[in-house]
Amino acid sequence: MSFDLVIRNGRLADESGERSADIGITDRLIAAVGDGLESATQELDAAGRFVIPGAVDSHVHLGQLSSKGDMTADSFWTGSRSAVHGGTTTVVPFAAQHRGMSIAEVFDDALRRAATEMAIDYGMHLIITDWRAAAPQELTAAAALGLTAVKIYLTYERLKVEGDQALELIRAATSLGLPVMVHAERDELVSQGRDEMIAAGEFGAASHAHSHSRRAEWLGVTQAIELADRTGAALYLAHISTPEAIDIAKDARASGIAVIAETCPHYLLLDESAYELPMERAAPFLCSPPLRGTADRAGLLERLASGDVAIVASDHSPYTVDQKLPNGPATKFTEAANGLAGVELRLSLLYTAAVATGHISMHDFVRLTAAEPARLCGMYPRKGSLDIGADADLVIWDESPWTVTWSGLHDNVGYTPYEAMDLCGAASSVVAGGKVVVTESQSDVTPGRGRFIPRTR
Ligand SMILES: [Zn+2]
Repeated sequence: MSFDLVIRNGRLADESGERSADIGITDRLIAAVGDGLESATQELDAAGRFVIPGAVDSHVHLGQLSSKGDMTADSFWTGSRSAVHGGTTTVVPFAAQHRGMSIAEVFDDALRRAATEMAIDYGMHLIITDWRAAAPQELTAAAALGLTAVKIYLTYERLKVEGDQALELIRAATSLGLPVMVHAERDELVSQGRDEMIAAGEFGAASHAHSHSRRAEWLGVTQAIELADRTGAALYLAHISTPEAIDIAKDARASGIAVIAETCPHYLLLDESAYELPMERAAPFLCSPPLRGTADRAGLLERLASGDVAIVASDHSPYTVDQKLPNGPATKFTEAANGLAGVELRLSLLYTAAVATGHISMHDFVRLTAAEPARLCGMYPRKGSLDIGADADLVIWDESPWTVTWSGLHDNVGYTPYEAMDLCGAASSVVAGGKVVVTESQSDVTPGRGRFIPRTR
């Protein structure tokens, strides 16, 4: 058997464990795994390094308009370019319906833009904010095209779905075999906290953290679980920031409710003390839920190891300094764009926080960043595995220490909240769709090369 590409002498790590072997690639697929594979047109030497499945990021915002009217700083092109340099070979962004819009139109528009812009393979989630009369048929059509999941918000005036609308929407998604991703914060508490701060004339970043309290997350998660219990939904809790919320999900799972939880690298590495800074310096760290404290991070790390956190996704929400600070230093917490960019650093951040510190193994790392997100999106084992026949998306992982600087990244944001942070672990070479697209010395990443990966049931 001859191969297009062979990766030699790597320490392969996937969900099932580790072993040393070569990987042979033919026609964009993993064709053979074993010792002493015959020579190929192109070879990469992975001696002394891990070889892992290309990572899947099941939560990124690219080429998306926020409810406040801010366009993300990254398009499908720049976001996918950034992702692949960090070892992510599949991203799943959102087609976002805002109220009054047709689901069919927003889904078609997102797929059309993705087809010409995406540098790597991708799925597509759908945010629904308006369960209109035409919505059930439109959702059925999107599911037939391969929609990966539906996302709803329990908070934010312009995004939230409530009451019978929420139940109908979730039942419709569930009957189509789609998981339901939920932004779970209790709206009453968030609004009340925000109004208290406005009434007190407190407009700093700390007021954002006050309104998006831990308790708002716990009650939001409880509310989402109740919805899942009433509808039989497969629930995907986005961006969980507190260990207590992970435990609420665990108890629900023990009682038979299909619920999994995601956390993000910023909740494992960054601290809420950033919100005490003047707005000019605090704004880059504003996100919802907000950053938390030392005990929360320790609790989340424990729950990565125990398996109670299923997925670590980036929640890449890229906004420029101008979007973060529309009124300069005088910007109020209610005016700043919310979200952190992190699609390129996700693997390095998680490796630094959890693998290098001995909390999780390399195969846990692959489970959290590749296998589980692929499973959630109906892409496993085509994505997220080293099985023969899987797509040839592979990363050679270098465990060396390095220091973050935005100029070394490939996004379009203009800064990184992780500037000057010392990390260890990075993708030294990346194979996407059978092609070597990133090596230590160069990259060959082009828009439009990515393929849409439909959800399979
Ligand atoms: Zn998000």
